[in-house]
Amino acid sequence: MTPANNRAITALFRVFGEKEAPISSDRTRLTSLGGMNRQEALTLAILIPATAVVGVGEQLTLLCGPLVGCLLAVPAAFLVLQLLPFLLNAKSPSVQWGLWLLLGVSWALHRCQTEGLVGLFASIWIAIGVISLAAKLVLAWQASMNWRGSLGIFWRTLVILIPHAMAIFIGYRFGWPWGLLCAAAVAGFFCSAILNPSSQILGTVTCKTSPPGILITIDDGPDPTDTPLLLDVLDRYQTKAIFFMIGEKVRAYPTLAREVIRRGHEIGNHTLSHPQASFWCAGPWRTRREILQCQQIIEQVTGTAPRWFRAPVGHRNLFTHPVAQALGLHVMAWNRRGFDAVERDPCKVLARILPELTGGDVVLLHEATPIAKDVLTAILTRQQALLNPSHPRCPDGSASSQASTPDSAG
Ligand SMILES: [Zn+2]
Repeated sequence: MTPANNRAITALFRVFGEKEAPISSDRTRLTSLGGMNRQEALTLAILIPATAVVGVGEQLTLLCGPLVGCLLAVPAAFLVLQLLPFLLNAKSPSVQWGLWLLLGVSWALHRCQTEGLVGLFASIWIAIGVISLAAKLVLAWQASMNWRGSLGIFWRTLVILIPHAMAIFIGYRFGWPWGLLCAAAVAGFFCSAILNPSSQILGTVTCKTSPPGILITIDDGPDPTDTPLLLDVLDRYQTKAIFFMIGEKVRAYPTLAREVIRRGHEIGNHTLSHPQASFWCAGPWRTRREILQCQQIIEQVTGTAPRWFRAPVGHRNLFTHPVAQALGLHVMAWNRRGFDAVERDPCKVLARILPELTGGDVVLLHEATPIAKDVLTAILTRQQALLNPSHPRCPDGSASSQASTPDSAG
């Protein structure tokens, strides 16, 4: 939902501005943070001078009459705009723009009853003030979602309890239909955050990698039949992948896990027992046990601690992020999948993945399915075509691939 860094200075454009449009060559004082969001720069550069002209022009018209007021509005506004930065001076650009916002909203509240242009500009500033406040709340929420360990668990417990307590209070105070409506809204919000694998509401989730390669991720292994086959296919296309492995399976097939590492791939944490039906509603202790024990098994078997965590079927619960962060894990989802864990026809799976497959995609595949090898082969063939458009055919194994590696994820 929110760009990680779109170089916007104001909260409004950090949250609602376009994702990546910095003015890279701008060397003015405003861009001392390394560039400014283009939408933000344009909006502020037009809105502030225009408001100054309208506001100053209105006062001059009241003092000197409409003709003189109109004639002097632009030069007087120019003078005001030269003086105001000295009054609204602050080292931090975000604080400085906060002061401009405060000034604009204060003026707007004072003039919002006025008709015509002044009233229109006052309405715009009030709308900007309201949206900026909402953006500040979004940023504060996101910052709190980065609290890790016990603090994060305590905060998230409050986050789930307080809205439900409010729904009960509303039901008691205004009638149970209203209380049930509020409870349904709260439940809908949390369900959308938990059940949508790419939702960023509960914390940062990696769903894309760096182009031009694609990142292959293979879940639910190791598997004594599929893992060796898939490793051979990956070797043939000289591609590295992340295998999200289940702790209990790693304990059962330690040699396969070590072979995955030996061939240069990465193993991710996919919980101890893969409780796909109940992980979404697990409490903090069970969440920690599932992630920590899987982490310990993989590290003991392979000598390498995973860096990435993926929840079973992508359904994180409320406590997944603070537990994972405390163990040094980043959460990864995907942006391409073909439901290969339940579909037995590889053509149908590939029809869901291949048409829109492009550089930077994170593809979700599964082991222990009868179609795993065919699906992986077809996707790597397409990747080869994406990376080498002049040689779109399946290679014989001698061609080198510039595939995305796990290091480029994130
Ligand atoms: Zn899984």
